[in-house]
Amino acid sequence: MSLLNGTRMFPCPVCTSPLEVKTTKKHKPYIICDPCGVQLFVRGPSGIDAFNRLIEHANRDDLWTRLEEMEHRFRLKCPECGCRFWIEPGLVKTSMFDGSLQGFRCPEKKCGATVEWGKKQ
Ligand SMILES: [Zn+2]
Ligand SMILES: [Zn+2]
Repeated sequence: MSLLNGTRMFPCPVCTSPLEVKTTKKHKPYIICDPCGVQLFVRGPSGIDAFNRLIEHANRDDLWTRLEEMEHRFRLKCPECGCRFWIEPGLVKTSMFDGSLQGFRCPEKKCGATVEWGKKQ
């Protein structure tokens, strides 16, 4: 990832997209994920220490590769409406004939398309 040019990244706690860690004028780190509307500010000194350690860990333990793998396996994109979602048992769609797994139902209310699982997207 773009860690090489000194940018520190941290995943959005909701959609896990890597986000650039920015710093406020008072040197407090924060991340913002626009699509999710997530704003995460770390204000306390011990929180900032812990946050910095988390970022270091993420970089050293190759969290990004692991997140990417997880995302490939457990995150689907609906071909109908284009929304992305994590698979969960409540969305399982099975065949009426033999009960085999057909895929997962798009959680978007007005969509409801069945998204095949395990297919390269
Ligand atoms: Zn997000
Ligand atoms: Zn959909």
